[in-house]
Amino acid sequence: MMLARATLNFFCKLPMNSLFDLACEGVRGITPYTIGKPLAQLQRELGQVKVIKLASNENPLGTSPVVAEAIATATADIARYPDGSGFDLKHALASKHAVDIGQITLGNGSNEILELVSRAFLTPDFEVVFSQHSFAVYPLVTQAVGATAQVATATDYCHDLAAMADKITSKTRLIFIANPNNPTGTHLAPAQLQDFVASLPRTVICIIDEAYYEFVAPSKRVDTVRWLDKFPNLLITRTFSKAYGLAGLRVGYGLSSKVIADLLNRVRQPFNNNSLALTAAMAALADSQHLAKTISCNQQGMQQLTAGLANLGLDTIPSNANFVAVNMRQEGEAIYHALLQKGVIVRPVASYQMPNYLRVSIGTASENSFFLTALGEVLQQNV
Ligand SMILES: *Cc1c(COP(=O)(O)O)cnc(C)c1O
Repeated sequence: MMLARATLNFFCKLPMNSLFDLACEGVRGITPYTIGKPLAQLQRELGQVKVIKLASNENPLGTSPVVAEAIATATADIARYPDGSGFDLKHALASKHAVDIGQITLGNGSNEILELVSRAFLTPDFEVVFSQHSFAVYPLVTQAVGATAQVATATDYCHDLAAMADKITSKTRLIFIANPNNPTGTHLAPAQLQDFVASLPRTVICIIDEAYYEFVAPSKRVDTVRWLDKFPNLLITRTFSKAYGLAGLRVGYGLSSKVIADLLNRVRQPFNNNSLALTAAMAALADSQHLAKTISCNQQGMQQLTAGLANLGLDTIPSNANFVAVNMRQEGEAIYHALLQKGVIVRPVASYQMPNYLRVSIGTASENSFFLTALGEVLQQNV
C-alpha cells in the first residue's frame, strides 16, 4: 500500500516533458500530417465572400446522386454494428477486379491500409523505401512503428526506380510507390514498374498506391491487379475518396495475395468501416456514368487550368491525376496566403521538398476560372 502511494506520487510529479518522453521513440519523432485548410474554416475567417477549396483532390462534382439515396435508406440500421466482414462491398469489388474475396482488405480510407501493412510487417529492426516528393503518409506509418525510412532521390519529380532499388538492403520490408504520385502527378510506365516489382526480393512487400488510378489515360495504364497472381508480395491500394467522391466517408481497400490480406485483416479494427460508408461505396461503384462524368470533367479542367497557368507564365509538372503541381518560381507559401485572402484554398508543398510549388486540385470550370483570376491578381500584386 505504501509503495503504491509512493508510485502514485512519482507519477503525479512527473514534469510534462517527461510524459512526452514516455511515448515510443518513433511516435516522438513524428511530424504530424498537415491537412488542406477546411472550407468552413476559411469561410469563418473571411465572412460572407465566395470561398473555394482546391486543396485535397476531392471530386468537384460531389459524389453520385444515387449515393445520397442509398445512405438515406441505410440510416434505418445505424443502431446496429456494421457488417464487419464488409461482405456486400467485397463481393462487388471481387467481381469488378476479378479477384477472390479473400484477396480484399477494406480500410477506413486507403490510408488505413497503408497503416495496417506497416503494423503487420514492421518492427524497429526494419527499413521502408519510398521516394522523395511522395505521399506524406509513408513516412508517418513508418515512423509510428519505429521502423527506418530510406528515401530515394527522385528524378524530375518522378519516382526513380533505379534509385529506389539501390536503397534495398536485407533490412527492407516495405516499398511504397504512389502511381500516379501525389503531389507531383507523375506516373510510371507499367512495363518499367512490372520489371521493378519482378526484381524485388520476395521478402519485400511492394505497395502500389493507386489512389488516382481512374484519372490515368487508359492508353497509359494497365490493370496491375492482374500482376497479383505472379507477385504474392504485391499490395495494391485503391480508394473511394478521389474519383468516387466519398472522401468524407472514408473507404479504401487493398488487393493482394490472400496471405497478405489475412494478415492485414488481423490487425484492423473489427468494424473499421461504418455502415453508411459501406452502403455508399456500393452505390458509388455501381454508378459508372458518374465516374465517366467525373473523368471527363477532370480532363477538361486539366486543360483549362494548365492553359490558364501557361498564360500567366507558369509551368506545371505534367499530371496524370486530378491535381497539378505549379512552379511559382518563388516561395509557394506567400502565394498560398495571398490566395486565401481571395477565398481560394490550394496546397503549399514545402514539406514535400517543393518550396516553390503549389498543388492545385482540378475543380469545376467555374472554380478553375475563379482560381485563375485570383492567382492573376495575386501575381500582379507582386507578393
Ligand atoms: C488521397 C491519397 C490517399 C488516400 O486517401 P484515403 O482518403 O485515405 O483513401 C492515398 N494515397 C495517396 C497518394 C493519396 O493522395
